[in-house]
Amino acid sequence: MADTYDYIVVGAGSAGCVLAGRLSEDPATRVLLLEAGPPDRSLWIHLPIGYGKTMWSDRYNWRFQTDPDPNMHGRRIYWPRGKTLGGSSAINGLIYIRGQREDYDHWADLGCAGWGYDDVLPWFIRAEGNERGASRYHGGDGPLKVSDIPGRHPLIDAFVAGAGTLGVPATDDFNGATQEGAGYFQLTTHRGWRCSTADAYLKPARGRPNLTVATEAQATAVLFDGKRAIGVRYRQGGRDIEARCDAEVLLAAGAIQSPQLLQLSGVGPPALLAQFGIPLVHALDAVGENLQDHLQFRLAYECTEKITTNDDLNSLFGRIKLGWQWLSARSGALAIGINQGACFMRALPESTTPDIQFHVATLSADMAGGAVHAWPGFTFSVCQLRPSSRGRIALASADPFAPPSMQANYLDTELDRRCAVAAVKAARAIAASAPMARYVKREVKPGPGVASDADLLDWCRDVGATIFHPSGTCRMGVDANAVVDPRLRVRGVQALRVVDASIVPTVPSGNTNAPVVMIAEKAVAMIREDRKRGGRTAQDGNPTQHNILEEA
Ligand SMILES: Cc1cc2nc3c(=O)[nH]c(=O)nc-3n(C[C@H](O)[C@H](O)[C@H](O)COP(=O)(O)OP(=O)(O)OC[C@H]3O[C@@H](n4cnc5c(N)ncnc54)[C@H](O)[C@@H]3O)c2cc1C
Repeated sequence: MADTYDYIVVGAGSAGCVLAGRLSEDPATRVLLLEAGPPDRSLWIHLPIGYGKTMWSDRYNWRFQTDPDPNMHGRRIYWPRGKTLGGSSAINGLIYIRGQREDYDHWADLGCAGWGYDDVLPWFIRAEGNERGASRYHGGDGPLKVSDIPGRHPLIDAFVAGAGTLGVPATDDFNGATQEGAGYFQLTTHRGWRCSTADAYLKPARGRPNLTVATEAQATAVLFDGKRAIGVRYRQGGRDIEARCDAEVLLAAGAIQSPQLLQLSGVGPPALLAQFGIPLVHALDAVGENLQDHLQFRLAYECTEKITTNDDLNSLFGRIKLGWQWLSARSGALAIGINQGACFMRALPESTTPDIQFHVATLSADMAGGAVHAWPGFTFSVCQLRPSSRGRIALASADPFAPPSMQANYLDTELDRRCAVAAVKAARAIAASAPMARYVKREVKPGPGVASDADLLDWCRDVGATIFHPSGTCRMGVDANAVVDPRLRVRGVQALRVVDASIVPTVPSGNTNAPVVMIAEKAVAMIREDRKRGGRTAQDGNPTQHNILEEA
């Protein structure tokens, strides 16, 4: 038996570090943060180019595989997930994107009061430390550091101009008044180093006596007294330890493992739990349902000029140049990770806001994070922003150390299939545009032989891969099938919340790290407010934004 805390946070990822860092700002609040992975002590975590290494790391990455997906020609899709302090924010592609105003207004329309765009914007701003400074849409002194990509690249400039020929405006801010446009990403970096949520929220908090951070400590069950969560059982150093909490258990283990842990703990679909002999605490059929992800298709091009990162990485002189750029100016490929160029545009005629996103890299490889090709190459990755296909996370075993079944169910709807084909065609149109065409020696993938819509869809099924945004598996809502309510409390039990990528009703239109950080910032304010109220659980208790910010 271990100590008693006020809050036990399970998972030190994008959300968990925010929760632990913020809650422990109050010296009277005792917080235990449990992380299954080791501390983030690797240069490859902190140096942006290390993305290619941690993508395959046994130590810092769960390296999940989906179940064979019938829609993807029976392939298993590789799902990397961070397993260290910072979680996936410690191994991600560093891209800072929030999504669209309409994403959050849609959540509010679904009944999630307090989650409309105007409600969530203050929490994005509170988290953000953008090097451009504070403005109407941006924070300048928040803990999550956001930087411009240092320097410009002729391929990205040509891409932006090429998108312009299709009517897509150039933009220097995808996170401002509107998302639509083409330009350069901003990254969660600071002076050339990655800014994970461990860097942003945990490191400043590590000396606090009221915060205990346990690494290589994997939670195996939430402990209940009746329907009230009272602690967590975890395994550390081969020992099973039970930690207790007076206030709440906060699950932040990510969209794969938060639902898995709920199911292991007896909260989930009764038939599934019975199949594995797990005693039922509370029947909640929707735990693990509503899985969504962004599926990317990567078009690879051979470049007419030796100006790509492939050329730098493939020569000794080029590697020295990259090292020098980083050392002298914290610039160049080492400071960038992979993707530099972006475009949010409408591919389907009925869409009123961007429905696809481009990630443009000045390098090419057979897979994300793989070894670069021997020739000069660049990549257009395209993905649909609001997939309508839904998958599922379900126990495959009662063993908490075994991964659950991950049924991605990509391209399951006609809308998603149409959008996939339209996305690849949009990428080809930009490649064929006058500004871009001079750099295209040949399209290597899909290649000229893949021409008809049927062939394109077939190719998408062959090569489609995650762009690493599984989410939605503990859906927030007010209907009978929601897993958490709009204050992120697990419905039907007490003193238990989920705060991570699992709670989104629909995946935001873009990369998911910034939205998860926003969710956790907002959650902290709700947790504090509920505690002040003495743990009362008013269902209508979404306070005004003004009040939350004052109390936060
Ligand atoms: C390779 C990759 C690239 C990506 N690129 C980008 C990008 O460029 N931009 C962007 O915005 N988003 C990106 N994402 C997505 C984004 O990083 C995630 O959506 C986000 O980090 C999810 O946050 P989370 O808190 O839900 O989960 P995570 O950050 O994954 O955190 C979950 C944590 O819980 C721990 N954990 C799990 N189970 C247990 C347990 N039982 N006990 C204790 N600890 C446990 C895990 O080890 C992990 O540390 C990327 C993700 C990956 C994997």
